[in-house]
Amino acid sequence: MLKIGLTGGIGSGKSTVAKVFQTLGIPVYYADDAAKELMNNNEGLKQQIILHFGKDVYENKVLNRKLLAQKVFNNPTQLHLLNSLVHPATIQAAEDWFVQQKAPYCIKEAALIFESGSQQNLDFVIGVYTPTTIRLQRVMQRDKATKEEVQQRMDKQIDETIKMRLCDFVVTNNEQELLIPQVMALHEKFIH
Ligand code: ATP
Repeated sequence: MLKIGLTGGIGSGKSTVAKVFQTLGIPVYYADDAAKELMNNNEGLKQQIILHFGKDVYENKVLNRKLLAQKVFNNPTQLHLLNSLVHPATIQAAEDWFVQQKAPYCIKEAALIFESGSQQNLDFVIGVYTPTTIRLQRVMQRDKATKEEVQQRMDKQIDETIKMRLCDFVVTNNEQELLIPQVMALHEKFIH
């Protein structure tokens, strides 16, 4: 069974593309949701987070994501430390999930694939490419956020053009090229 990564910048449409694969019957692992779940339920990971970021990041055993985000947002060392705890746990959980699937191929949707080194465990990586202006508009609308807030989040991610060059396949989600035929073409490629 092929293990396929699906990535792209904030608001590129990763989840939207993932849902199209799901409608074709392809199992999808949502790494960002899984990471959140693990931070709340994986005892080993929780202990590590408490050790490095303080007891106050959990309130009644539930992660205070806002507080943790504040602690790491403008501190690259702390962010790197947090990622070094969360990424291996998420990669392992994805591996455990992959072995349980029964399909010709499975998709792992994640914002950070190359950044976390998880491409090493994948056969191919699909990138979703969307021009920055469209991504900005979509995320501002989706998250009810200001342009500056979205731009700030984007500035923390690696450049889209570089990311797309690292991908084996690119889906263009720019409101001009149709999404579904592009996904169908990849689906055909992966099942044959
Ligand atoms: P994030 O990295 O923030 O999780 P994402 O890459 O998963 O984002 P989506 O949530 O799939 O992106 O898409 C961002 C927003 O743009 C959503 O509101 C989605 O409905 C919308 N969107 C994505 N693709 C299209 C499209 N082709 N046409 C119209 N709206 C779209």
